[in-house]
Amino acid sequence: MSQAADRYQQLSSTPPGKFLVGRLGLPESTPLRRYKPGQPLLEGAAVVGGAPEHRLLSTVERVLKNTNTPALAPEAVAGAADKVGAIVFDASGITKSEDLSALREFFNPVITKLGRSGRLIVLGTPPEHAADRRHHVAQRALEGFVRSAAKELRHGATGNLVYVAPGGEDDLESTLRFLLSSKSAYVDGQVIRINSGESSTPRDWEQPQAGRVAAVTGASRGIGAAIAETLARDGAHVIAIDIPQAGDALAKVANRIGGAALHLDVTADDAPQSLAAYLTERHGTVDVVVHNAGITRDRTLARMKPERWDAVLDVNLSAQERLNDALLIGDLLGDGGRIVTVSSIGGIAGNRGQTNYGASKAGVIGIVETLAPELAQRGATINAVAPGFIETQMTAAMPLFVREGGRRMNSLAQGGLPIDVAETIAWFASPASGGVNGNVVRVCGQSLIGA
Ligand code: NAD
Repeated sequence: MSQAADRYQQLSSTPPGKFLVGRLGLPESTPLRRYKPGQPLLEGAAVVGGAPEHRLLSTVERVLKNTNTPALAPEAVAGAADKVGAIVFDASGITKSEDLSALREFFNPVITKLGRSGRLIVLGTPPEHAADRRHHVAQRALEGFVRSAAKELRHGATGNLVYVAPGGEDDLESTLRFLLSSKSAYVDGQVIRINSGESSTPRDWEQPQAGRVAAVTGASRGIGAAIAETLARDGAHVIAIDIPQAGDALAKVANRIGGAALHLDVTADDAPQSLAAYLTERHGTVDVVVHNAGITRDRTLARMKPERWDAVLDVNLSAQERLNDALLIGDLLGDGGRIVTVSSIGGIAGNRGQTNYGASKAGVIGIVETLAPELAQRGATINAVAPGFIETQMTAAMPLFVREGGRRMNSLAQGGLPIDVAETIAWFASPASGGVNGNVVRVCGQSLIGA
């Protein structure tokens, strides 16, 4: 854990604490299962089913088989004592609202069997790909179902919806592996869209980045250091980038992961040329670029000085645009290239005192929207993570009540860890995620803020 320990979670995990939480109706904050290499995909079996005319069940079954995860029919678990690791329902075949009752029928007898850090996943057809109006309505309804069901889950379990466009069936595997595993610990109540893309199946799913080069900005500490470490764990050679003042801390991260340290202020006039020259000389191209560097300079609008506005917009937004332009003009993004950018729930819901930050982080979503079609044509992708309350130096410095509010006001009643953001980025960055393009996925434990 981080700088400011989550004492509430520690106390409420003891037997007397658990008793009090139950009696007083306090939020239950279960320590989440997190990934360790070699860990089984799930703790327990997966219950699997689908509405008639389903399209995606065979991919689900293949992934479970590839990961040695037992699959069970709902009838096999309804009366049994054992908890299950996941409940997956393929709703892609539901073409009219009357047939949505299949959701209730499937989940009702088995939902209480979902164990600690269990996974509820619903698969559907994107409404924009529906055959007619009634099909669109039925598929759109899945969002409300999943978001509500996710709020009913306990013991660190999560619920997410994946819309798979026709033709994208084979691109679903990396996303299913991510969502089912403990790598998605703090991703809850999200809607993910998958299209057909240029994916390549890694020879080893534990080393999907083997032979690839990744550049991560703001990598000397916090979330950026976790991203660099996670991409290196996945086999990438990582170029860890930060401002010259980050000095030793950046060198330590780079040394720990056997990567390279590059001192570069992303807002410097020559930053795009310097990065392009570095990549061309050392590697020719780059496979993964993560725009994580970000700052806050909070003030209400009435007290916002131009320096504060400009600094935040420049680091968080304009610098990214200039770097992306240099990468694309120089044709520096390699085959299966991945750009991942870090937004924030502040860019979705807005925060008082953060007009500059909110504008920058919403602008980042605009970058994803505009570049996704262009990158798809190049066989590459761009996606964003929008973190909620993550335990870092930034959030440890918040006043106690603000910090406690941020921690508890989400379905998991706890803050996320930098690794949760990093794992989500690693999923986007995988060569197997070619169908995952143009998404903004919140890593926020289904935060009530901006939900
Ligand atoms: P942090 O302050 O710990 O780390 C940010 C890093 O970016 C630092 O190492 C800093 O030196 C670097 N940086 C700043 N300006 C730079 C520049 N001009 N050039 C190169 N590097 C620069 O912050 P963090 O909490 O780890 O946040 C990382 C990202 O996640 C940011 O974009 C932030 O906005 C976003 N985010 C964080 C949270 C959270 O709860 N911590 C929530 C939502 C979004």
